[in-house]
Amino acid sequence: MEVNDIIVQLNSPTETDKALVKEAYDFAAKAHANHTRYSGEPYLNHLTAVGKKLAEMGMGARTIAAGLLHDTIEDTEATPEDIKEKFGEEILFLVEGVTKLSSVRYYGSDRHNESLRKLFVATSQDIRVLIIKLADRLHNMQTLQFVPAEKQLRIARETLEVYVPVAHRLGMGKIRKELEDLAFPYVYPKEYNHVFKLLQSRAGKSNELLERERKVLQKRLAEIGLLDFNTSYRVKGLYSLYHKLKRKEWDINAVYDLLAMRVIVPTVEDCYRALGIIHKLWRPLPGRVKDYIAFPKPNGYQSLHTTVATPNGVILEIQIRTRKMHHESEFGIASHITYKEPIVSGEEVDRPSRFASLIPALFKPFTRRNNSSNDLKKVTKSPHRDKIPRWISQIANVHNEEKTSTAEFVEDMQKDFFSNRIFVFTPVGDVVDLPVGATPIDFAYAIHSEVGDHTSGAMVNRKLVQLDTELCNGDIVEIETRKSSHPTKKWLPIAKTSLARRKIRSSVEKETHP
Ligand code: MN
Repeated sequence: MEVNDIIVQLNSPTETDKALVKEAYDFAAKAHANHTRYSGEPYLNHLTAVGKKLAEMGMGARTIAAGLLHDTIEDTEATPEDIKEKFGEEILFLVEGVTKLSSVRYYGSDRHNESLRKLFVATSQDIRVLIIKLADRLHNMQTLQFVPAEKQLRIARETLEVYVPVAHRLGMGKIRKELEDLAFPYVYPKEYNHVFKLLQSRAGKSNELLERERKVLQKRLAEIGLLDFNTSYRVKGLYSLYHKLKRKEWDINAVYDLLAMRVIVPTVEDCYRALGIIHKLWRPLPGRVKDYIAFPKPNGYQSLHTTVATPNGVILEIQIRTRKMHHESEFGIASHITYKEPIVSGEEVDRPSRFASLIPALFKPFTRRNNSSNDLKKVTKSPHRDKIPRWISQIANVHNEEKTSTAEFVEDMQKDFFSNRIFVFTPVGDVVDLPVGATPIDFAYAIHSEVGDHTSGAMVNRKLVQLDTELCNGDIVEIETRKSSHPTKKWLPIAKTSLARRKIRSSVEKETHP
């Protein structure tokens, strides 16, 4: 693999785009020169795989460059200053975002998974950071067999419980399926074997069958005058089959979408037309037609589904969709970042599109202290609500159609995602869940009352701050303690949590009435 494998995948790149990817690749090659993966191959292979995946999703040159550089700050001598000087603030911002996400720890307790997912999204601040992280995780899962056995299970579980739901919520069907099928055998080995054998027994020679039926369908569609179409087929992914089997009491004959054929046509009209042609060609099963074009799934998925029985006795689910729907169902939010759509404000913006700037705001982020110049908010120009793809607004579960202002929309989104909590880190990456407005004092007491009672100072993101500083989502907080330090009355208005206030009060009382 080399840099040209990435460049050929770029979507109409400029010379600058190509040069940027090349430069990032060379920088990474040099920085990681002495690194190898667990498999023994050069570390650069990992970065190239991530860059290639991002290109395949249709991401732009800057995101790909950040993907190539995503491990430099954490694993090499390269400093943030080096990256900034060579590649600029935006790429540094993405690389640091990915680096920071690496500190999100997973402890495998179900109770915390939802917070962890929120934290994951919140901490990323820019949706492109999440996309890079997903591409990174995909390659790590593809090479998981080389990782020491004691780490495999933790990584695979984290993939299923954090990354897969995030990918699903972002509508990224392709990577979601890849991730779950890679993680499945590690997390549920017994179930995996069972499902695998069941599928073999039922659909062992399915590729031959599917190829034959596909030719029949292609011929008929062409005869009818539908010329500009693509067909493909797939066997259901093992992990999603596993979930379906659990719902169907392990009766594989009750699973109708084991084999599926996809028909991709230019327009929505063609979709309905193709459905008619298919129902005339093959006998549809009753009650199996689903119109997800008129009624998209909550994550935005659109297609027509029907199940048919062919004269060869094959039960087949047929999925009919336009190219755009197909692209969206494979790449979800990533397809919106790069889709060239008219810009609301009328100004010409190349990449990131307005979605790239809108979406981070939706996921509400934390406001960056000191250096707000590099966040992408400045492009957010109240776009019309109806220009926001429906599925994105559904991520926020916004049901109230009367609300039209972006501000309200963003507010709803935040409430849903964060319900007035923030998540901050200890220096070793543990997560502390605090109310909005919390300060280092609250953090200190959340860690331990001894820490709270002897707090003498605080660092946020490695900078010394006042004790009344409001903490933000994703901050890394460090408390300095001194034996001689004690709570004072001044701390009371600073503390936002009842725990901290109670401890401060009782300590102050002890001081005054020993
Ligand atoms: Mn990596």
